Amino acid sequence: MSESNGSSGSNGGDDPLSVYHLPRPLPLWLNASYAKHIVKGNFMTLSARPKTVEPAEWLAHQVVEHYRNLWNFVRVIHEKEEDGRTICNPGTCPRMSAGAKREPVELPAYEYITLMQRWISGKIDDTSIFPTDANGVSYSHNPSVTNSPLSQLTNPGEKDWVGKRSGFPENFIEVCQTIFRQMFRVYAHLYWAHFIEPFYHLNLEKQLNSCFSHFILTACALDMLKPQELEPMQPLIDLWAANGTFPPGSKAYDYANQRAGERLMQLANVTA
Ligand SMILES: [Zn+2]
Repeated sequence: MSESNGSSGSNGGDDPLSVYHLPRPLPLWLNASYAKHIVKGNFMTLSARPKTVEPAEWLAHQVVEHYRNLWNFVRVIHEKEEDGRTICNPGTCPRMSAGAKREPVELPAYEYITLMQRWISGKIDDTSIFPTDANGVSYSHNPSVTNSPLSQLTNPGEKDWVGKRSGFPENFIEVCQTIFRQMFRVYAHLYWAHFIEPFYHLNLEKQLNSCFSHFILTACALDMLKPQELEPMQPLIDLWAANGTFPPGSKAYDYANQRAGERLMQLANVTA
């Protein structure tokens, strides 16, 4: 990797990270030595839908899984300490900020996240939106559901949508996209405001990285998050593409800036 002008020293304008306007020193979670995860094996297989599972059911299952993962971490910052305070409180986090460029929401993060939690669990518990048991994905009791082409199962001219035959509502995809966007905001808050205290201090940073990288891989693969929506966490996504967490061929990998990721690895003296 040679710089075009061949000179060493500051390469200001050529730094692929400069577009992110990151605080210096860089947040610890952008240090390649701390961006590791614990999942062994292939992430792609984890987020791939088994052929016999209907797409809407699979999506519902993913929403519930990732919601559960995320809330294990939120519980840590929302649980009362001995002095009756929570780690995330209006004093530590007066706004729901995520990153330097982001417009913060004028609400303490604690309240914002609590409202979001209520909203998401309200959706998941609503059987008119999540009609199937999303905890266990049914592996196709009725083979005709997955094997017959759509055209044979619906009347011509009648409106069809993903999951219609299993009772999912017409706006199911939009609801899931909103849930994923909200969950992404919460993850961004965990990284930007709480990565060191408490997660790193509790030795939970690898778990956090595992859950979040899996979340990103799934959200991108299922088109639940658009590339421009990843912005507050883009440098970490770049890093995960460069260090092999996101395999080539995955959408998350395609959305990453490889050069920025390599630069972060270089800064931490880490090789892929
Ligand atoms: Zn907070």
